[in-house]
Amino acid sequence: MKYDFVIVGAGFAGAVCAERLATNGQRVLVIDKRNHIGGNAFDCMDEHGVLIHPYGPHIFHTGSKRIFEYLSRFTDWRFYEHRVQAHIDGNLYPIPINRTTINKLYHLDLNEQETADYLASVREPRERLTSSEDVVLSSVGRDLCNRFFRGYTLKQWGLDLSELSAGVAARIPTRTNDDDRYFTDAFQFMPAQGYTAMFEKILEHPNIEVRLSTDFHVLRSIIEYDHVVYTGPIDAYFDYRFGKLPYRSLSFQHIHLSGVERFQSSGTVNYPNDQEYTRITEFKHLTGQQHAGTSIVKEYPRSEGEPYYPIPRPENEALFQRYNELAEATANVTFVGRLAQYRYYNMDQVVGAALKAVEALL
Ligand code: FAD
Ligand code: UDP
Repeated sequence: MKYDFVIVGAGFAGAVCAERLATNGQRVLVIDKRNHIGGNAFDCMDEHGVLIHPYGPHIFHTGSKRIFEYLSRFTDWRFYEHRVQAHIDGNLYPIPINRTTINKLYHLDLNEQETADYLASVREPRERLTSSEDVVLSSVGRDLCNRFFRGYTLKQWGLDLSELSAGVAARIPTRTNDDDRYFTDAFQFMPAQGYTAMFEKILEHPNIEVRLSTDFHVLRSIIEYDHVVYTGPIDAYFDYRFGKLPYRSLSFQHIHLSGVERFQSSGTVNYPNDQEYTRITEFKHLTGQQHAGTSIVKEYPRSEGEPYYPIPRPENEALFQRYNELAEATANVTFVGRLAQYRYYNMDQVVGAALKAVEALL
């Protein structure tokens, strides 16, 4: 069988490329070494009938109407705004840091302007925001940095804030009002039937064939194709020619609590300074599912294992650029996605990157 395109990976990057190419008349084979579609966004019922995300909590949010409308062809949505609290010295505080956080932590009663004044009095302005430490110190100062950010970051990345590029901590804003939503994007929704159901729809096209439990390195010599879209780790594609590109891994501990309807008061609770895990997420908040029991996941950061996060820091970016030069010189292969582009992309950004990649291909 000859294909116009072989797409390596059935996550957001691969599925969106497949759909766009197939709809434009191309014959597409999608393979994934895992035994399911959806990549890290895959969801499924656990053995107790609770919808869970095996690879950690995935909350969809985007500011892009175009991306939201594109995905809306394949799913209905459930409105959901994620809220996170940080567990510090036995108390829970809203994170991102807002007015409530500061009043509760310091036993104050500041209004919005006074909260802004307070932050202005504690922040340590930096001329250039190069590292994540620069970002946090210049927005909330040292005490809040040490309580909310330094420990969490060390646990999550195995690195100090000062060793990570600014973009990592810049994901988390600071607020002077009481808005306690984790994201403020215009579109915040969960796929109504779950991510896997949405991926089934995206990939449902007569020009698309999907083969699971299939590794590209095994298949590449036995099939015929014109072009590859590769969405796995870029260093693996080139057999680690310049050495391993660092990725951060996690191990997930999934727990079901039978007879417990609600375990915690928000979707996620972060543990910046105690516990080995970074956070606990209770899925029923995200999915709205009704069930007599509940399922939670604890995330334990790891240096070895499945690559989940690129690690944004200058030396890694430099190594990535060497691989990227190879990628650009490799005819007939397009690299797209979080691991292939070595970018700390959210799901919507991966969809955007895939749409852009296909436009260039067509
Ligand atoms: P992936 O989903 O990683 O898909 C790549 C696929 O390629 C994988 O399925 C892999 O098995 C396959 N593959 C790799 N190599 C080969 C090979 N040689 N042969 C065959 N198949 C191969 N984003 C959000 O927007 N909101 C969130 O709340 C959110 N939470 C997250 C929580 C965690 C713990 C993690 C790790 C990520 C989270 N993300 C979130 C990010 C989101 O998971 C990614 O942006 C998105 O899933 C990346 O899609 P992708 O297609 O680039 O990669
Ligand atoms: N972060 C932190 N404390 C928190 C939340 C986030 O220090 O309570 C920092 C930490 O470095 C983390 C980064 O901000 O890795 C990005 O957080 P986000 O919740 O976006 O991470 P993700 O959901 O991608 O794991």
